[in-house]
Amino acid sequence: MKTTVPLVCAIAILAATTVRSQDARAPLAAAAAAIGAGNVRSLQFSGWGSDYIFGQAYDGSSPWPRFNVPGMTIAIDYTTSTLRDERRRAQSESPPLGGGFQPLTGELRQIWALSGPYAWDIVGSGTAAAAVERDMRSAVEGRTTQIWLTPHGFIKAALAGDAIARVETVRGARKTVIAVTTPMKVKLEGVLNDQNLVERVETWYANPVLGDMKLEAAFSGYKDFAGGVKFPTRIVQRSGGYPILDLTVTDVTVNAPIALEAPSSVRQPPATATALVPESISPGIWIVPGGAKSVAVEFRDHLIVVDAPENESRSVAVIEAIKKSIPAKPIRYVINTHSHFDHSGGLRTYAAEGATVVTHAGNIAYYQQAWANPRTINPDRLAKSGRTPAFEGIVGSRTFRDDARELVVYHYAGNMHNAGMLMVYLPKERILIEADSFTPPANLNEPPTAIANLAHFCDAVDRLRLDVEQVVPIHGRLTTMDEARAVADRFKATQIFR
Ligand SMILES: [Zn+2]
Repeated sequence: MKTTVPLVCAIAILAATTVRSQDARAPLAAAAAAIGAGNVRSLQFSGWGSDYIFGQAYDGSSPWPRFNVPGMTIAIDYTTSTLRDERRRAQSESPPLGGGFQPLTGELRQIWALSGPYAWDIVGSGTAAAAVERDMRSAVEGRTTQIWLTPHGFIKAALAGDAIARVETVRGARKTVIAVTTPMKVKLEGVLNDQNLVERVETWYANPVLGDMKLEAAFSGYKDFAGGVKFPTRIVQRSGGYPILDLTVTDVTVNAPIALEAPSSVRQPPATATALVPESISPGIWIVPGGAKSVAVEFRDHLIVVDAPENESRSVAVIEAIKKSIPAKPIRYVINTHSHFDHSGGLRTYAAEGATVVTHAGNIAYYQQAWANPRTINPDRLAKSGRTPAFEGIVGSRTFRDDARELVVYHYAGNMHNAGMLMVYLPKERILIEADSFTPPANLNEPPTAIANLAHFCDAVDRLRLDVEQVVPIHGRLTTMDEARAVADRFKATQIFR
């Protein structure tokens, strides 16, 4: 991942032997005619392939974890900015290569929806407002961008906006590159081949871990699906140097109505942002609530915070809340349970405050490289501070102690979720903080995902002879070690172990 982005840019610049600007209207009209874009108001395409979960790699040198997608249907209404993305996901490699959501037993059905300014997920028979995507962009921005990352969507965005065109000769082939910025201020570039077909659309966004990031969709194998409406039979999307989607399109329907309305629960304006209030679960141990929590632990003259989820705005709110409840104690360390972006996207804010990032030793080179990427799209506090972040690598375990508190960080190696899983143990309080090994299910009869990883975690706790009563999962409600063991035992037999 490290050098992919700058390298790709360098190659593109060297290979473009001639570049000249021209009016975008003529090439856009030709491109629209080539795929019949003018007649398309809505489009539904379906097929099969693989998808990959961005930001959930097994380790810093692995691609995003891959899943088989036996069925996927995307419906878009370009006139109303409506999107419905439904996919079925199943375990791919066996034995699993590891990473978030691995190993997956059976099929996971996933529906993402967007209607204008509302984004939500359809889960079973219910719905839940969607806040951030896996790449930590807002769900509305991420899903709206997906509409423009289709050939017809790109042409429509370029026709509606102030597009400019340039012609490049790349390795002897003439390409027309059309650039436009959408009303949401998302920059898009589409590459037309010599038949005026959109062969690639690229966009850029700020990722809290990786910095300025390119997201690209490549289209090939165009076919006439319905009276002059051409659509690619293969779509490959990549971001952060690795694929995130590889879809073979088998069916395309044009202008079928897409009935998708944001449910009233999603339309409600969010309850006026209530201030984040840390909750003490034991003297000096504070939980900062959220979809992913942070836990603040008081020492005599400083604090240690466990996990920095999502992004800088989340970290700023968490740090502010902590400073209010526990004044006059600086955050000296931030412990990163593992490198997945929902747990690490906010780390840089703590580093900007001067906290040392405590992570598995194997992650340090990865963060140093990723954090050195350019951050021009959305410079964060660390980028602006010019500060060199301090890291401390965990190998095995590390005890933090003063006369008030003892806290032990353990690496539990061999967990499929991530190579550098850390758990945090407070021996006196018999509290264990863990991420993603056990997220208590809302429905007790429903097996949680990746039971193999939960069983591995329980074994690690036993092997270390940790005396644990309360478990603080970074996601989900508080629980106990007894419940974790009971769930592992109950569902162990129902899920594949390899
Ligand atoms: Zn994770």
